[in-house]
Amino acid sequence: MKTFYIETFGCQMNVHDSEKVIGTLITEGYTQVEQPEAADLILYNTCSIRDKAEQKVFNRLQQFNKEHGKGKVFGVLGCVAQQEGEKIFDRAPHVSLVAGSASYTKLPQMLVQLESGNRRVTGLNLDTEETFETPFASRDNPHRAYITIIEGCDKSCAYCVVPFTRGPERSRTSQAVMAEARELARMGYTEIQLLGQNVNSYRDPSPVAWDFARLLRAMGEIDGIRRVRFTTSHPRDFVKDIIDAIDENPVLCNHVHLPVQSGSDSVLNRMQRLYTRDEYMRRIEWMKKARRNISITTDIIVGFPGETEADFQATLSLLDSVEYDSLFSFKYSKRPNTTALSLPDQVDEDEKGRRLAILQEKQRSIQIHHNSALVGTIEEAMVEGYNQATAQWIGRTSQNRTLNFTHALIPSPGHGDTLAGKYLNVRVTRAGPNSLAGEAVL
Ligand code: SAM
Ligand code: SF4
Repeated sequence: MKTFYIETFGCQMNVHDSEKVIGTLITEGYTQVEQPEAADLILYNTCSIRDKAEQKVFNRLQQFNKEHGKGKVFGVLGCVAQQEGEKIFDRAPHVSLVAGSASYTKLPQMLVQLESGNRRVTGLNLDTEETFETPFASRDNPHRAYITIIEGCDKSCAYCVVPFTRGPERSRTSQAVMAEARELARMGYTEIQLLGQNVNSYRDPSPVAWDFARLLRAMGEIDGIRRVRFTTSHPRDFVKDIIDAIDENPVLCNHVHLPVQSGSDSVLNRMQRLYTRDEYMRRIEWMKKARRNISITTDIIVGFPGETEADFQATLSLLDSVEYDSLFSFKYSKRPNTTALSLPDQVDEDEKGRRLAILQEKQRSIQIHHNSALVGTIEEAMVEGYNQATAQWIGRTSQNRTLNFTHALIPSPGHGDTLAGKYLNVRVTRAGPNSLAGEAVL
């Protein structure tokens, strides 16, 4: 029997890539095990979006090999594999497979090579137009499923390693995407999350040439699908038709994650983000004017090379103007191959830390204010599970807020009763900066 263990670092794209890799391995006759000690093949699906990611992977590889790695085959997948390439064999000689995501279509052949004893198998070609189509992806969550619609990235943001690790932008056909979604609905999934580095750059390569808004509308019509989400959107390619589609159909979740990175035009320009603050704000206005209440979230980088105090203040003032429901914030970190490496005026680490703390504190007060305004309202929550420690059900609203709640008739799972996967109306009774709490309306 051939067994494998896989560990995944990084974003949702990586999580879903792993689901497809697992599906491929199972199709090839492998069995997944939960402990690396029990596996013949150990895979790490890695992330290199920010610094120290590579070191983490090498430490993990080293640590495991010393203790329990004897006789096992190790593989490094994902962004660190693509970025470091064959150098990994020198730094970690017990590794036998190094493959980036653009080569996953070749996994079956790579497995055959490993099985025949080849101890230096690589999949590092980025020059591809193929997408990773798998007949089977092993999904853990029985209610929500990810679907990749577009792979790679053709933008060249000055700080970002993704174009070097995931290759050129390539969309799947709308036919393949729709067939996968219909099959998921048939299997009982009710929520679909469309994935891509820039989902709204989606362009169906088949003659019907659907754009992203067209695909979204079609997704919203699939019988059995109650929620459709998507991430991430790039402001440059974000058109009003996407908001119109959300306004037309409540199945399309009223949440848009639109990374801005900075509120300063000079920083945006040096980042090569391809939009100005005003252009970004125009998109925000579309959302604010929509009929539905659209939740807006973002990503921000502080301390990009040359970011002055005035630039940073511009980002803080953007937070006041937009009033995001939540944001991911990062200190700029140097990435190999990127153009920002050669920019002058790198900001020192302490200063980046100071700016990050100020930004996060400001955002926290915005969130407390926003979430408090929801107390007393009734929200539909999709139930994700149960938290034993707090004795609350865990729910998520269409706007992607966490809404933990109690249920008078089914206070906890047991006796065959579970609310997981159900859609319930919940009255919001309390609000914190990061979540809401409430009680189910009976
Ligand atoms: N494609 C998306 C976009 O254009 O907004 C984002 C993809 S990236 C995986 C996720 C986030 O990581 C980015 O929005 C950015 O805020 C952050 N990020 C990427 N490179 C970074 C770097 N070198 N330093 C700090 N943060 C970075
Ligand atoms: Fe990276 Fe920019 Fe592409 Fe997003 S759009 S993945 S930040 S290069």
